[in-house]
Amino acid sequence: MDQEQQLAHYEDHVAFFYGKISAIIASLITYFLTENLVFIGITIAMIVIMVADVRNIRSHKALMEGNSSDFETWSRHYAVLSTAFMLAIGIWSFCCFALSDDTFLHLLCVATTMGNLLNLICRNFANDRSLTIQIVAIGIPLILGVLNYGDFRSMILCGFLLPLFFSIRDISQRLRNLFDNVLKQSQEKEEFGIQLNEALESMSHGLMMFDEDMRLRVLNATARHILAIPKEVDCYSRKLSDIVRAIEMKKLPINRVRILERALTRRLQHRSQGKIFQISDRQHVELSIKLRDTGGCVLVLEDVSQRITYQERINQLARFDDLTGLCNRAYFIQRAEEILDTMGRGQKGAMFFFDLDDFKRVNDMLGHEAGDYILSTVGERLTNMLPKTAAIGRYGGDEYVLFMNEEDCDEPFEVLGQRILKEITQPLEYNNQMLRYGASMGIALCPDHGMSMERLLKLSDLALYEAKNAGKNLVHLFSPELENSLTEKIELEEELTLAVKNQSLELHFQPIISMEDGRPQVFEALTRWNRSDAVQVSPALFIPLAEELGLIREIGEWTLYEACRRCMDWPAGTSVAVNVSAVQFQVGSITEAVRHALDVTGLEPNRLEIEITETAVLNDMVHAIRVLEEISEMGVRISLDDFGTGYSSLSYLHKLPLDKLKIDKAFVDDLENSARSRTLLKGITALGRALELKVVVEGIENENQFILLRDQYPVDYVQGYFFSKALPADLALQYVEGFHHDNNFNESIPDQQDLASSRSEDAKVA
Ligand code: C2E
Ligand code: MG
Ligand code: MG
Repeated sequence: MDQEQQLAHYEDHVAFFYGKISAIIASLITYFLTENLVFIGITIAMIVIMVADVRNIRSHKALMEGNSSDFETWSRHYAVLSTAFMLAIGIWSFCCFALSDDTFLHLLCVATTMGNLLNLICRNFANDRSLTIQIVAIGIPLILGVLNYGDFRSMILCGFLLPLFFSIRDISQRLRNLFDNVLKQSQEKEEFGIQLNEALESMSHGLMMFDEDMRLRVLNATARHILAIPKEVDCYSRKLSDIVRAIEMKKLPINRVRILERALTRRLQHRSQGKIFQISDRQHVELSIKLRDTGGCVLVLEDVSQRITYQERINQLARFDDLTGLCNRAYFIQRAEEILDTMGRGQKGAMFFFDLDDFKRVNDMLGHEAGDYILSTVGERLTNMLPKTAAIGRYGGDEYVLFMNEEDCDEPFEVLGQRILKEITQPLEYNNQMLRYGASMGIALCPDHGMSMERLLKLSDLALYEAKNAGKNLVHLFSPELENSLTEKIELEEELTLAVKNQSLELHFQPIISMEDGRPQVFEALTRWNRSDAVQVSPALFIPLAEELGLIREIGEWTLYEACRRCMDWPAGTSVAVNVSAVQFQVGSITEAVRHALDVTGLEPNRLEIEITETAVLNDMVHAIRVLEEISEMGVRISLDDFGTGYSSLSYLHKLPLDKLKIDKAFVDDLENSARSRTLLKGITALGRALELKVVVEGIENENQFILLRDQYPVDYVQGYFFSKALPADLALQYVEGFHHDNNFNESIPDQQDLASSRSEDAKVA
């Protein structure tokens, strides 16, 4: 619909009829006064045109309601009929002046023309062309009629009529401009309204505007969606409570508008600061309220559910362990400190530190999935059995921590500890197999043992350590005496781990002398560890520690390689003996390590000896026999070390592929004074002989012992400080080279001993 069409819409149909009917009546009056039939004709013409016009206007109404495609035709008809009526009035006026001298009629003409001209402005101001034509149609015949009247006064009247016509046109023009502007403005407003509406509807935020009576004036689609207001509920100009009722009447399950209403009331009445409120289980909305100057307010609603979910997830990740759902280390400490803060004076609390025994083995053997299953189940069991007020955390790996005060614990802490261990170590079924594992626990009390979390954690960890040492699957309560010894041990462990990692261990070599020719036929490789503070730690101390820490395999492989490498520098016929720990014998593939060392260094197998102890053999005889046979088949010799100190069960001796028996130093120590020792040594050496094993006696410290042995016992080799202490590799080389050039057994010993005592073992032995 164009501008002209819209302007036409404003026409005044009432004025239209009054104007036309008054003209028809005036024409009829003219007839009655003049009795001239011309006026009857004009009146009929006017009536016909008016009827046609009315019909045309009716069809216009129909057009306005329906489509506007025939509007052009309608407009044309309208213009023609209007012009025709104006022309009929014009002709009537002309005839009045031409056919009558009646001044009343003349005035009637002018008045009717004026009335219809005004009517014309109302109806046709929008269409300048049509207006002009109609002015001409009504005006020219009138002017011609007046002129035709012929006197001077008529001429003057014409002079006034003409400008009147022009000013009518001008008025129409102004009116048109005025309407133009109004229309344009209203159009712009409407367009702005449409754009605003579009913007509101496409906003990602919900928007609601209330007037001063808190009646809803604006509600965009997002707000409707957030509040789950069905489309069929009309909200305009309704209060929230009315909308709530309307939704309730539709029997919808969740009425979020009620939640909003409450939140809004709270915010407005109590000036509450909380911006976010929960609108459903999983949906959170942020509400911003702006009070309007004119009263009422504007609400902006933002669905922040996703943000809240992310935040919760981040909090969860930052505070809780993913696998077990327990507090992580940092959050555990925070929670435990909160409990500590709420504890009254004189009230006790306990820190429980526990871990799973041999968890690493389960993990290695059954895989990480099984390990994870155990860890998460333990977490679940702890959560189920302990009160919600307790702080429970996963400290790392398979370590768990618990802190609680005595108020939440209706039994002694140690009893609770036992109960926890029992509960968490219940066997588990996983992939059709039962997982069995133990757990150990240390407990430290507050305030008895300390008040800071750091200290309580440390002390309960020390107590756990002790529980493990005492045989695992135990609860151990911290005692102050523990602290010193354990702290030292832990430090030692840390340093040893570092030393192995940095390969800062050293090998020394102690000669084993052949009784036949006095030569150092074999050198026993003995590991040395110089701690950072220059104190030398005895292998008798650090080897068991390395076994405990799982470092023995690494140390053993290195020792084998290093010993073989050094032996390559010595004259042919000189061998090296390497000690193999019982643990290494059980866990690692010792055969592989021996083979690897020989391969890499190129040492002939018959120049290598392996020293094993009875414990290594007795633990698993079948395994021991198999491994020793493999090694023996390579051509490597095998010695049984420290013979006579263990649970010597002589029955195994003949089953093993042994080459040598090393009789422990303990037998030599009392040799001079104890007849019993002498008898025992005699028996053992005879046994060795009988089994066709070479006999080595270790720990000979003085000449008397040596002479006694040489003269009275069937001994093949001797070893001890009397000949030499363990020497660094370069001195061991000098030692063997010295013997190589000098064949005199008894004379050469003191020289070499001097060398040995002067250069080796100077360091303090811890
Ligand atoms: P072992 O294999 O019986 O070695 C002999 C120990 O006795 C050595 O002590 C040696 O220095 C010491 N010894 C030798 N002659 C005398 C003597 O006349 N008087 C005295 N009082 N002691 C003597 P060390 O080096 O302290 O080694 C102690 C133990 O540590 C060794 O006993 C051996 O079982 C173990 N060991 C040393 N190095 C290694 C190693 O590389 N691997 C393994 N698995 N164990 C090692
Ligand atoms: Mg040995
Ligand atoms: Mg020994």
